Amino acid sequence: MENVMGSSVYSPVSEKVVEDLVALLGRSGVTTDREKCLAYSVDETIPRFEREYAAEAVCFPEDTAQVSAVLRYANEHRIPVTPRGAGTGLSGGAVPACGGIVLSMERMNAILEVDRENRTLTTEPGVVTADVTKAARNSGLFYAGDPCSGDISFIGGNVAENAGGNKVIKYGATGAHVLGLEAVLPDGSVVTFGGRRRKDVTGYDFVHLLVGSEGTLAVVTKIILNLIPLPKRVTDLLVPMPSLEAAVKLVSLVTTEGGVVPSSVEFMDRNSILNVERYTSLRIPHSDAAAQLIIQMDGMDRRQLWGDVEKTGDLCVRNGALEVFVAEDRNARDRVWRIRKYVAAEEWTYSMPVLSKEDIVVPTSAVAAFLTRLPRITERHRATYNAYGHIADGNIHITIFPDGIAPEEDLHELAVPLRRELYACVNDLGGTLSGEHGTGLKRKEYTDIFLNEAQRALMKRVKRAFDPNNILNPSKMLP
Ligand SMILES: Cc1cc2nc3c(=O)[nH]c(=O)nc-3n(C[C@H](O)[C@H](O)[C@H](O)COP(=O)(O)OP(=O)(O)OC[C@H]3O[C@@H](n4cnc5c(N)ncnc54)[C@H](O)[C@@H]3O)c2cc1C
Repeated sequence: MENVMGSSVYSPVSEKVVEDLVALLGRSGVTTDREKCLAYSVDETIPRFEREYAAEAVCFPEDTAQVSAVLRYANEHRIPVTPRGAGTGLSGGAVPACGGIVLSMERMNAILEVDRENRTLTTEPGVVTADVTKAARNSGLFYAGDPCSGDISFIGGNVAENAGGNKVIKYGATGAHVLGLEAVLPDGSVVTFGGRRRKDVTGYDFVHLLVGSEGTLAVVTKIILNLIPLPKRVTDLLVPMPSLEAAVKLVSLVTTEGGVVPSSVEFMDRNSILNVERYTSLRIPHSDAAAQLIIQMDGMDRRQLWGDVEKTGDLCVRNGALEVFVAEDRNARDRVWRIRKYVAAEEWTYSMPVLSKEDIVVPTSAVAAFLTRLPRITERHRATYNAYGHIADGNIHITIFPDGIAPEEDLHELAVPLRRELYACVNDLGGTLSGEHGTGLKRKEYTDIFLNEAQRALMKRVKRAFDPNNILNPSKMLP
């Protein structure tokens, strides 16, 4: 396999390499079983990649020392290593693009400490995100990271992707909650950055360089998260809107005119909602409305929260809402969020061909313009779409379906000019190609639209400084 950064060639995972890895991790810490290797070589990217990628071995380290031993060995022998969390990524980040070793973090799955006094939680990377949330809650505290995949993703994968999700407008993306990291560099050395402190300007901010670096610079082995007091009250509004324009305008008015900072503002267009009804047993009021919004507000004090709910509800009605459903108790709120989770999971898409699943982000002031241009772009490429997502962050997910494309036509080939036109439009509006799903393998060919030559050259120099032999997650982020 050609090394993408230079002239050297990677070594294969030979029998001798497997023996050496077993010596480092024990028999149960390594597999070369073909089926298992293939299962650990995909993520949730839809559509799947044009060709199949396959790990030659999967390693299951149990602690930092084992991660270090594997990386030191792989670096010395020039074997590519792809870190892997739960494999729920949507850009091929955990796909072993150059073969070699997949380093699964699933056995590093302990929450090490909840420190109530410092309001921090220290965890290994292989803990399911929802378990982090639960552990914080059991101590009366709140972890505000909330990707829609929280029941299945790992916290380490969230850090590596700087996962966003539903509460970014009020609390920020994953990176906003990370105070410190322990990580292993590609040569096996162990580094720690940041710590149980809320301020730190000593040296470069490596914590936030590693956050979102998609496993290309270091393997994260320990994470210190910031916790906040647990909001005692939460209320969700489900708001069907008669037009996309009215929905977008309302989102901005909630904060500017209403003076309310909701904890979530989610958006689902008509096609998304109709597909939920078509493929699940859920029935949604006003399912033919142009858009539905979920507006969540939280707080400590019932009276203050109710004041925000009333103000927001009033704004909704004055700005055209077809109805405002208020969900206060757990069951009602779960029913509202089930709609959004079904839209994100899009189980139905697995039985439908998908041209592309996108995650663009534009300034919030440009959301309306983007949604106006989107149908013209997809029509030109003989496609239809569902649009939904974190509208208050300007982050719109788009699942694009072929429409009138003959079965013999190559969907992968057709997706390229469609994506280029879509991204050019996003760039024109001051946006970028991914808000939270990452560049990975899927979008690296399009970075030239958004990053100039100097930026790309700097990224390569940073990569080289961390990983001179380019063994860690090669062939990701940049072509
Ligand atoms: C139904 C569904 C809903 C989703 N909703 C959201 C959402 O709301 N918001 C959002 O942001 N994303 C969402 N995602 C995408 C995905 O869940 C996130 O990107 C998540 O952070 C990936 O975590 P993971 O553990 O599955 O990582 P993986 O997919 O296994 O890996 C992702 C990347 O992280 C790297 N990596 C993993 N662990 C480590 C580590 N310990 N050290 C270094 N690098 C590492 C991998 O190499 C890879 O590049 C959704 C996905 C699905 C399937």
